[in-house]
Amino acid sequence: MKDTYRHQGQRKSLIKILRSKGIQDTKVLNAINTIPRHWFIPAEFESYAYQDNAFPIDSGQTISQPYTVAYQTELLDIKPGDRILEIGTGSGYQAAILCSLGATLYSIERIKELHIQAGELLNKLNLNANLILGDGTKGAKEFAPYDKIIVTAGAPHIPTNYVKQLKTGGAIVIPVGKTQASQKMILAIKQADGSIKHEVKGDFKFVPLLGEQGWKT
Ligand code: SAH
Repeated sequence: MKDTYRHQGQRKSLIKILRSKGIQDTKVLNAINTIPRHWFIPAEFESYAYQDNAFPIDSGQTISQPYTVAYQTELLDIKPGDRILEIGTGSGYQAAILCSLGATLYSIERIKELHIQAGELLNKLNLNANLILGDGTKGAKEFAPYDKIIVTAGAPHIPTNYVKQLKTGGAIVIPVGKTQASQKMILAIKQADGSIKHEVKGDFKFVPLLGEQGWKT
């Protein structure tokens, strides 16, 4: 797989677009500038890789829009060494961004094919993520507690497991919607008494979070 001057130029243009849409965190923009997003998209559609759009990947899933990846990552304010749990590995692109920011990443995917493909890509990039196959609505108790949790599929509510597996003062960024059609981005912070305080951010559209504490179908 190649990363040419043309791709690098396209990434520079994408960064300009993300800035114009309000993304300010230079660490996040630098990470997007480094990771070859075209590797995470089916080869025949490579030319779409640096448009600011979501894109279909295998198994009927999507790679999130670059703006959404940037927005969720900016909200998380990743510090090197942060223990991060991601739900919905998908293509592995968001995982690559988190790893390149120095996160110690645990990422769960329910579809085996995607879990395997993402692992291969992250290896090629020399990024060290801990990928887990299973129902991410349960979280991953064995590696908890986490500093931050990021959910990249639309949830009907915040699964209680996430709050339990989060450190005090830790953050969850999760798109939540009453139906599967659209979600509001929620930033939830765990308080000392174990409750959460949340802020409602903008509107987004994700594929559904399916599982025990997600949508049933
Ligand atoms: N972060 C991804 C976005 C993928 S789309 C990227 O950068 O490409 C959301 C992903 O969440 C899909 O791959 C879907 O299979 C997965 N998903 C949905 N419900 C899940 C669950 N309960 N556990 C783990 N993964 C889930």
